[in-house]
Amino acid sequence: MKRAKKTKKVTAKKSTNKAKNLAIGTGGSIAVEKCQVCNSKDLKSILFLGYLPPVNTMPAVGTQPKEQPSYPAEMLQCEKCQLVQIGCVVDPEILFPPSYPYTSGTTKILRENFAELYREVMSLYPLTPKDLVVDVGSNDGTLLSNFHLGGHKVLGIEPTNAGKIARKNGIDTMTAFFNKKAAKAAVAKKGKASIVTAANVFAHIEDVHSIVEGIASMLKDDGIFISESHYLVSLLETVQYDTIYHEHLRYYSVTALKYLLESHGLEIIHVKKIPTHGGSVRVYAAKKGKRTVRPTVQQVLNAEKTQISEGSLRRFRDKVVQSKTGLHALLNDIKKRGEKVYAVGAPSRASTLINYVGLDDGIIDCVLEIQGSYKIGKYVPGTTIPVLEESKLVTDQPAYALLLSWHIASELIPKLTAKGFRGKFIVPLPNPRIVSSATEVSHVEAAAA
Ligand SMILES: [Zn+2]
Repeated sequence: MKRAKKTKKVTAKKSTNKAKNLAIGTGGSIAVEKCQVCNSKDLKSILFLGYLPPVNTMPAVGTQPKEQPSYPAEMLQCEKCQLVQIGCVVDPEILFPPSYPYTSGTTKILRENFAELYREVMSLYPLTPKDLVVDVGSNDGTLLSNFHLGGHKVLGIEPTNAGKIARKNGIDTMTAFFNKKAAKAAVAKKGKASIVTAANVFAHIEDVHSIVEGIASMLKDDGIFISESHYLVSLLETVQYDTIYHEHLRYYSVTALKYLLESHGLEIIHVKKIPTHGGSVRVYAAKKGKRTVRPTVQQVLNAEKTQISEGSLRRFRDKVVQSKTGLHALLNDIKKRGEKVYAVGAPSRASTLINYVGLDDGIIDCVLEIQGSYKIGKYVPGTTIPVLEESKLVTDQPAYALLLSWHIASELIPKLTAKGFRGKFIVPLPNPRIVSSATEVSHVEAAAA
């Protein structure tokens, strides 16, 4: 979650030089009429979640509700390159108001993932101390620290203050928004890279072609590019419609990534599914013909033919609707008994769930965030549900805690129980249900990974 925030900043800055085919008018948004990757006009609708407010527009608690814009949240699929994308691009100036704070730091699951990435790279493509590893959108240097400790040369490229933390830890980091110019500067500084990494960069940045072009220009002839993206198949299988909001412009399958990378002379050589962000995909690519293509590539591409078929997209839509009516039914029973529900966690995805399902402050009293969160003292977008400090869960002991970061429920439940919460938990997705312990949810997370 935290790591994704950094890439949002990149998008915010990019609003000054908007992508050619996405010139946003004064109305603040533009309908996507052409595929963002292949320019095809053959886009079909998968799902429409209604109109959603910008996730970072959060008025202070106590202020009178004022007019607030909402934007259509429709998921479209390109018939030509298979890319799934949001149907409306909102001006980053609106999505990231000046008050939008940057918070650094990475979660346990991300740290473990990057340590595992290092181990996988060293076993598949062993590096020597001479090899350079460049991370695009390097944040606080968590990913690179593994390579740095392993004795390899590293360079981070990061536009936000998080780069300071990396430098303090000895990770050489350039302060820059990534583009072709930054790529050139990186090569001038350190030479060409054996490995370039980019985790959660492709979903947010408007002009994805210039990013891939810049990355390709930094690679040695036999260099390898490793990207990590939230995986469309996980999104569909575990009904993660709540990851659909306007900051996420694209939802990648390996099929769509193949089209994007090939248009810049890159070939996918290895694919691995990883558990971050509720199910992501790690894709290795190299210049065409320079590296052996592993069987994992064809296996995943074959599987996607059925996983992203018309039938599975229709079933996904049905499951989204069922999850909404199911959550209503479950909450209806609780409210009839006069019991209280507090929600826990206000990530961006919580705003989509709350607005799509239509929860208000009569159904859930508040959303709780850990101490120090900038969201405390504000209303959830589009509602008058206040965001309050998490300690309230233990002092008030409501009957239920609704987990809005449900994709890490098995990590959250023991934590909240250890802090002294004695009530039950509501896990809203994929199937809304009430659980008492982490063991009841772990199998669902395993499916998402
Ligand atoms: Zn396309």
